[in-house]
Parts: sequence; C-alpha cells; structure tokens
Amino acid sequence: MRTSQYLLATVKETPADAEVVSHKLMLRAGLVRKLAAGLYTWLPMGLRVLRKVERIVRDEMDRAGAQEVLMPAVQPAELWQESGRWEKYGPELLRLKDRHHREFCFGPTHEEVITDLIRREIKSYRQLPANFYQIQTKFRDEIRPRFGVMRAREFLMKDAYSFHADVASLEETYRVMYETYSRIFARLGLAFRPVEADTGAIGGYASHEFHVLADSGEDAIAICSNCDYAANVELAPARAPVGKRPAPAQPMQAIDTPGQHTIDEVSRYLQVDASRTVKTLLVRGTGGVVALALRGDHELNAVKAEKLPQVEKPLRFVTPAEVELAAGCEPGSIGPVGLRVAVIADEAAARLADFVCGANANGRHLVNVNWGRDLPEPEVADLRNVVAGDPCPADGCQGTLSIRRGIEVGHIFQLGTKYSEALQATVLDEGGRAVVMPMGCYGIGVSRVVAAAIEQNHDERGIRWPDAIAPYRVALVPIGYHKSPAVREAVDRLYADLRAAGHEVLLDDRNERPGVMFADMDLIGIPHRLVLGDKGLANGTIEYKARTAEAARELPLASLLPELK
Ligand code: ATP
Ligand code: MG
Ligand code: MG
Ligand code: MG
Repeated sequence: MRTSQYLLATVKETPADAEVVSHKLMLRAGLVRKLAAGLYTWLPMGLRVLRKVERIVRDEMDRAGAQEVLMPAVQPAELWQESGRWEKYGPELLRLKDRHHREFCFGPTHEEVITDLIRREIKSYRQLPANFYQIQTKFRDEIRPRFGVMRAREFLMKDAYSFHADVASLEETYRVMYETYSRIFARLGLAFRPVEADTGAIGGYASHEFHVLADSGEDAIAICSNCDYAANVELAPARAPVGKRPAPAQPMQAIDTPGQHTIDEVSRYLQVDASRTVKTLLVRGTGGVVALALRGDHELNAVKAEKLPQVEKPLRFVTPAEVELAAGCEPGSIGPVGLRVAVIADEAAARLADFVCGANANGRHLVNVNWGRDLPEPEVADLRNVVAGDPCPADGCQGTLSIRRGIEVGHIFQLGTKYSEALQATVLDEGGRAVVMPMGCYGIGVSRVVAAAIEQNHDERGIRWPDAIAPYRVALVPIGYHKSPAVREAVDRLYADLRAAGHEVLLDDRNERPGVMFADMDLIGIPHRLVLGDKGLANGTIEYKARTAEAARELPLASLLPELK
C-alpha cells in the first residue's frame, strides 16, 4: 500500500480524553476514531490489526475442531425470558422494540441463541461433543465505557459454546480450549497468564481468565512466587469441584463483624433509597471494615463502616482502587470479599457465588444470596481477602502471593446445565433417555486484544507491534522519491519485489520530510523499516532498522530479501 493513497490518520497531539497509553496511541496512530461513548470506527490501519487477531483466533479455533457459525446480533426477548436473564441481566443489556412493539436486545453474549439452535438441531448423544463459535459484534451498555476499545460498549468478541453428553466430555473440551487459548495468546505475541476466575454474570462451575499483564489492567491478579497458581483476586480460594452437586442454599449464621450495620442504617447513611438498595453490606478489608451497598442501578457505595455517618456522596463502583480510595484503605488492600460481594449484591449478577459473605436478606442476618445453585457453601474461614504476601493456597506450595494488574482478554467457563436446563436442551443418551446437555462457553475480546497488545508493546515513539499482528510488516521510506527519478524507479521496483516475495509493505511515498515519515512509521509501529535514497543507491546498500532496535544498519541491497525472511 502507498501512503499517498491511504487514510493515514496519524496525529501529533496526545488526545486529551485518553487516559491509558493504548487509547492514546490508537488515536494518534490513526487506528480508531470515536463515534460516541464506547462506540468506535476502525480505520483501515486499525482494521488490519483487528483482522489479524481475528485470523489467528479463527485458525486456532478451527484447529481445535470448533465449527464457525454467525448468529444475529439482535435477539428476541422471549429467549432471555426463558433463561431468566431478561429480568436479571440489568442495565448492561440494551433493550429494543421493533415497529410491532416486540421486545429485543442487542446481544451482550449468546448463550440463549446458541442453546435454542442446538436444542432444535442436535437430538442424539452421537452428535456430541460439539463446539460452535462466532466472531461477532456484542453490545454491553457499560456503566463507564473507557480506555477506548478496551472497555467499549460495542466490541468484537469471539464466543464459543460447547455441548456435551456428560460432564467428563465438558471437562475434556474445557481442557482443549484452555490449551487453544494458550496457543492463541502465544501466537499473538502477548505475555499472558491464565488465572482462576470467577464465573461472573454468565454463571457456572469452573472458570479461567486469560490476562495480559499490564499496569493499566482493571483486574488484580494474585500470582504465586513459587508455583503456577494465579487467581483473580475476586476469586475465593475454595472452589467447587466440577460435577459435584452442590448442597442446597442454607442461610449462614450472622457474622459478628465490628461495625456491622443493617441495610437500613447503611442506606440512611448513604442517603440511598433502602428499597432500591440491593441487600448487601459488610465486607472486610485490611484497612478496616468496609461497607458496600449496591443499588439496583448498579451503583455501588463504599465507605469505611466506622466512618459511615461522615459519608457525603455515594460513590459509583468502578475499580477496586476507587473502592479503596473511598474506604481510605491501603492500595491493594481490598480483597476478593469486597469485590465479590459488590458484584453479587446485584441479584441480576448473583451467580458469583463463592464469596458471598454479607448479603443481608432481612436487614439483620447475613445470608448467602444465591448460594446452592451451582456451588457448595463456603466455609466462613474462606471469607478472607487476598493481599500481597499471603501464603499461596495451592496444596504443597511454599510460595507467597504478589498482586499484579491484568487485562482480561479471554475467559473460559464450564457452564454446566444452567442454560440447557432452562431451555430444555436435551439429547437422547445410549439408553434412549433424554439428558440435559452440560455446556461450556469460551470468550475472547478480539478488539480488546488490540489495545492490550499496545499496552504491552510500545515506547515513547509509539507502538511496537508483535510481528503477528502488525498492520504492515515492512515500512519502505524513500528519500527523494519526488526529486530523484533513480530513487523513484529503484523504490518502485523494490516495492514490487517485496510484495512479490509475500511481504506486506507500506510504501511512504508522500512528499514529506524524512523525519515526518520516520516518526509516523514508528508511531504506527511497523516492525521493519527500510530507507532508500540516492546515497544508498550509489553504494548498492539500503538502511534497515527493526522497530525494536536502537540503531539502523546498512545492508547490501542484494541480500535484503533473504535477510527479511
Ligand atoms: P470485564 O470483566 O472486563 O467486564 P467480562 O468478564 O464482563 O469482562 P466476559 O463476559 O467474560 O467479559 O466476555 C468475554 C471477553 O470479552 C472478556 O474476556 C473481554 O476480553 C471481552 N470484553 C468484555 N467486555 C468488554 C468490553 N466492554 N469491551 C471490550 N471487550 C470486552
Ligand atoms: Mg463485564
Ligand atoms: Mg471479568
Ligand atoms: Mg469475564
């Protein structure tokens, strides 16, 4: 591609509203443009990267035997009513009405649609296991879209859903997906970490997240100094073994924590409407007891319980760091209890079972809001915060935990029969009996990966793409293209030769000063740069510089092609 014929939308100034480096660089390098909050247009340069990520994801999913489908983005309300999520999902679900006043939503995820499809199409255990995926646009009406495409409202996700005749088969596919994800993120050139995770609003048994480690990450990850153990700090150390049927929900004993307050008291202190305050309070942080109250509209108020009367303004729950700030705790001191309860407090998202310690059902007693559906009850002893320096919970490991920040780029779940039961998705087993299919689901934030890759690969001059996802592999910068016919001829020939050899080349044929062209190519982050001018031509050499190298070097023109392999 020639830059003179390309929308090279680079800008020098750092955009004022961009907080994190990937957002700044995506705007400056001309990869994306904002249309409205959480809505982005991918410009040609950005789209090339996005498509490359997509291609690697697709390639590995196909290799793992998954079958690609494409489901509608808009989904009928009836299916969500059948699963129970129409009521429970909350304001992140964008609801729409058509001209006949029928209700729809713009899909934030596709469990309902795929389960509906499969209950119609698959009848026998012989057709299982089967894994279906799509790469498709999702919409989530995020309370705080930010960091550009990292937390957008409309974004591109690869989502896959597997169906099984039994739990052993689900576990096997889960293992294959775990490996597939590891291959995908390795091929993308990212430093990543699979971590034990919480099952979120999707629900289910076992779950891992794949995190790209970066300081700007919104998640806190506990990593062992001595073994492979890594967990999202939202996660309780105790986890239910897959396939083991949980005990029925039982109210827990009231935990007599210092500073315990009733929901009415907290609501009054926080000046929120008690009837709209979802029933949760009292979480322990190392900086003291933290009370958390979540309102029906997903707003969380956090205060140090001892200081409740002094609270002036309710705080929206955004990140653990903000909760810590509000509660006056040490950074990193809010552990899983606080976070888990904060999310669980919303009945809509109340499938986050294991760390419920303070759901206050009747204004006095601490009961387990949503326990028993998928997981066994926790021991009260498990209700603790994970903080840096804690011993690793892995059996036989002597290590201690450190807390790092991560960007969640992938998430795999063993769903169990949550959706297949609700939608009655059954197959006939060997004996001709109808069995409900256990399911798994597997997501990758394709567009988020692009931002995460930049968070990990940049310097003061711009992006440093890993080869696998660079928009172009080679930047060809002529010196004197518009003045010297010899340079023009040689550069045009080299451009054609490079392309014929299979290289993706961006030829900067603009009539610009070399400094401007170098700065743009560095900003865009093309891994290999070639500079050719009259001097080189006379010597039969070309200047080569890797984006990651300190200095350029001269190569004989003749040996360029083999060198670039
Ligand atoms: P998060 O914790 O960041 O809100 P999530 O746990 O809600 O993500 P999942 O339901 O697990 O997300 O969806 C699968 C993947 O989709 C996530 O791992 C993430 O990479 C991506 N994703 C989720 N929300 C967004 C978003 N608002 N913008 C971009 N990517 C997203
Ligand atoms: Mg989310
Ligand atoms: Mg998450
Ligand atoms: Mg997730």
